[in-house]
Amino acid sequence: MAHVGFIGLGNMGGPMAINLVKAGHSVQVFDLSPEACQQLRDAGAVVADTASDAVRGADYVISMLPAGKHVAGIYLGDDGLLAQLDKSTTVLDCSTIDAPPSREVGQAAAAMGIGFMDAPVSGGVAAAAAGTLAFMCGGEADTFARARIILADMGKNIFHAGPAGAGQVAKGCNNMLLAIHMIGTCEALEMGVRNGLDPKVLSEIMLASSGRNWSLEVYNPFPGVMEKAPASNDYKPGFMVDLMAKDLGLAMAIAEQSGVDNRMGQLAKELYSKLQAEGGGQQDFSSIMQTLHKEA
Ligand code: NAD
Repeated sequence: MAHVGFIGLGNMGGPMAINLVKAGHSVQVFDLSPEACQQLRDAGAVVADTASDAVRGADYVISMLPAGKHVAGIYLGDDGLLAQLDKSTTVLDCSTIDAPPSREVGQAAAAMGIGFMDAPVSGGVAAAAAGTLAFMCGGEADTFARARIILADMGKNIFHAGPAGAGQVAKGCNNMLLAIHMIGTCEALEMGVRNGLDPKVLSEIMLASSGRNWSLEVYNPFPGVMEKAPASNDYKPGFMVDLMAKDLGLAMAIAEQSGVDNRMGQLAKELYSKLQAEGGGQQDFSSIMQTLHKEA
């Protein structure tokens, strides 16, 4: 059993922290939202008054926050959490943020002798609740060995992507590819349907052929093809357009910083930002399918 300080109890952090309580760890939590804290109190965690109180004496500190500024804000500076932690603590930031603040926190932790990993997740709210998230970790090998023990109680696939920041890069690569193949799948289905094909039959054909991909396999974007997919439930999320647009913004920054000509990714970002600007931000990201209908 480990002593865990958990900061950020939103849609993802809440169920992740609950899984740590269920696994028998001693979990102290903090969030700015009293409702989020109450949920964890009900689940058996100790709610702290401040982030500093939550991490006192912790073997592991885990954060699940919206963006880079929140992560830098809680960890860095004279009154930041890093300055208050013991060297034996392992710090895992599971938020999806841009690589530079992640590396900055990693470097500050390293300078203080504290093990830090960026450990963003893939899988969404359902996987967070089921404890089946995938973690993509960036940091030192010995920190990864310690991280793995606790991440296993929240996830199924735990990868060491490379040094500090590598987890965020892996997440950016994956989600850019996801956006591209989702849009490509929508275009292929729409083209087939407008030429008289049944979307179910066309999906079966592509699944058995070289167009096979994750969007077709488990998340078909055409309504009625897959009963449990968001497309068959008015595009209720699932994984929101707002989050995909955010992740694509982070991926574009990575491509730009590394000099990659990622035209497909840029176009995907443009299409998701347009859908977001038109008021579709809270819908599932497979609702990009509907934009093909609109522009017919
Ligand atoms: P959320 O907005 O539901 O939760 C964020 C929580 O952080 C909120 O409860 C907020 O009150 C809290 N918070 C903000 N600043 C704080 C501070 N200074 N101290 C303490 N608490 C603070 O967001 P979410 O959906 O849980 O996402 C969290 C992270 O996970 C994001 O980086 C997101 O990109 C990533 N992510 C989300 C999903 C998803 O499907 N929701 C999937 C994969 C990754």
